[in-house]
Amino acid sequence: MPRRILPQPTPETKHFWDGCKDGALRLQRCRACGQTYFPPRPFCASCGSRKVSVFKASGKAILWSYVIHHRPVPGFTPPYAIAVVQLAEGPRMMTNIIDCPQTPEALVLDMPLTVAFEKMDDEITLPLFKPVKG
Ligand SMILES: [Zn+2]
Repeated sequence: MPRRILPQPTPETKHFWDGCKDGALRLQRCRACGQTYFPPRPFCASCGSRKVSVFKASGKAILWSYVIHHRPVPGFTPPYAIAVVQLAEGPRMMTNIIDCPQTPEALVLDMPLTVAFEKMDDEITLPLFKPVKG
């Protein structure tokens, strides 16, 4: 199967990718205004303060929106869903939903999800999400 295109860690996102390798979903929180944000950057997305800290998120999320793709893309078998999840801590993240049929019947908005790390290579482990089995 052709490889999917992987993200390239930068100095600003390295803590995030290192976290994923260790099984931790890392977010950043502003110590000036309290905003929790994603994607990683060295200043607060809300107030611009550089007083930000990194913390381990719960890994819990709900399905916020998605589109189902039917065209083949390297590394993916169609149909597959490109999803946006809302993390319990607030930020939204683009990801894929695994362990779930890629159909509108199975992908229900607001369904509870939990992070599942999938190792792609020595550098990149992707944070994917799977349904919480009730
Ligand atoms: Zn702030």
